[in-house]
Amino acid sequence: MANSIAPRPGFDWTAINWGGPDEPRTEHCSYCGDALDEESVPLILWTKSGWCAEFCDHCIATWWGGQSFDEAPEPRHEPEIRQRLRNAKRGDGDG
Ligand SMILES: [Zn+2]
Repeated sequence: MANSIAPRPGFDWTAINWGGPDEPRTEHCSYCGDALDEESVPLILWTKSGWCAEFCDHCIATWWGGQSFDEAPEPRHEPEIRQRLRNAKRGDGDG
């Protein structure tokens, strides 16, 4: 018996940017548009007519329950880097 995969409640099927059967594989998440990480394996859905959608890690975790993202801390910049970014944004200093 094949387990059909189903997204969590709230998933918007109309938000998927489906790739056509004749189009090359996308390099971006079909749901949020983020670039897909080459080193991770995206979730790929295929329709009967050959259309496909690929999901990034984050969308997999959010909508397909691939990982327990709930408890994972958000990636944060080191304070030092944040400071540098802030300086860069202000554009002052010896540029
Ligand atoms: Zn995504």
